[in-house]
Amino acid sequence: MKDPYDWIERSLDTIHQARWHRSLKTIVGRPGAVVELNGRSVINFASNDYLGLAGDERLIQAAIAATETYGTGATGSRLLSGHRDLHRQLEQAIAQWKQTEDAIIFSSGYLANLGTISAIVGKRDLIFSDQYNHSSLKNGAVMSGATCLDYEHCNLTQLRQHLEQHRAAYRRCLIITDSVFSMDGDLCPLPEILDLAAAFECMVLVDEAHGTGVLGKTGAGCVEHFACRDRPLIQMGTLSKAIGSLGGYVAGSAPLIDFLRNRAATWIYTTGLSPADTAAALTAIHIIQTEPQLRDRLRHNITHLTQALASVFPADQDVSTTRLYAPHHPITPILCLEVDSPATVLHWGDRLLAAGLFVSAVRPPTVPTSRLRITLMATHEPAQLDQLRDCLRSLVP
Ligand SMILES: *Cc1c(COP(=O)(O)O)cnc(C)c1O
Repeated sequence: MKDPYDWIERSLDTIHQARWHRSLKTIVGRPGAVVELNGRSVINFASNDYLGLAGDERLIQAAIAATETYGTGATGSRLLSGHRDLHRQLEQAIAQWKQTEDAIIFSSGYLANLGTISAIVGKRDLIFSDQYNHSSLKNGAVMSGATCLDYEHCNLTQLRQHLEQHRAAYRRCLIITDSVFSMDGDLCPLPEILDLAAAFECMVLVDEAHGTGVLGKTGAGCVEHFACRDRPLIQMGTLSKAIGSLGGYVAGSAPLIDFLRNRAATWIYTTGLSPADTAAALTAIHIIQTEPQLRDRLRHNITHLTQALASVFPADQDVSTTRLYAPHHPITPILCLEVDSPATVLHWGDRLLAAGLFVSAVRPPTVPTSRLRITLMATHEPAQLDQLRDCLRSLVP
């Protein structure tokens, strides 16, 4: 008899040969701009905790207090025994912040995308998806059973052509896009996408995972940044990045949210968010709204590092095989440095780590091309950014 599991080791061999294999790194202690990794202290350029809130004492205390009051687990799905007043407070805080009629929280951003997309479109419908969209958007589209067409990254001409060619043959149509692209750091052209959606009678779902807490006057995200808050759209995001907790949300019209409470399987058939996570997120949103200086510090760091790296990697000019693609407007905390191969990016990641700098080396299949993904935090010091610049300069061939 053939072993029905022996393909797993063969697959792993292939993954190793392509240098695609991943393994875990253990961070010790609280998260922050400096963390302990493999027994030493390193400057952290690999976190999505853009405002430094995940290690903030106020969030920790809120989580402890909620645990004391409500216990550790929600004990059931929200529709059965798992709904607490804290959940509703968080949903109302999100809706108020996003200026939407209502909001709903999921156990993660990933589940929010799966549940929402598969609830609002189905077999008779059409989805247009930016090719660089996050995995959760892509898999939400698959799960929905709708026909899904990718358009080239931020290519509105192609999106329009696709709409002209295919829209009429389907019932509903949904355009899905990251607001800040997670592995590139650039912004989607949201106002133009909304114009196309209006012209072709499409819904739009924008994923604010990396926009929430970072962009816009009150930190409400890319939708606020582009002054699109009054336009009809579906906003989702995560509580696990700038908000420093765990969970996801969808914000939109009251009928949409009520519909999701009745139809989103990843919300109905899963346990409610833990009291600790819920309370931490609620506290974070309050801090983000009342302390704009956090965002100011982050923005300052983004400008500082973009300028520092521009001196090492002239914009859009090949330095050997390396390319910095700072977004056109350096307002997002994600900066990428494209490198020619998975082996090079791993080597650079190791060299940076040896110098005490923790930077993610991202490889296919997560992204089409290997890159260093540098993420900034409000709590980085200028000297730490300069240290990164100096080390990168020493790596350039
Ligand atoms: C991280 C991320 C998600 C998933 O959010 P989680 O809460 O971590 O599950 C969804 N979309 C994008 C663009 C992300 O970067």
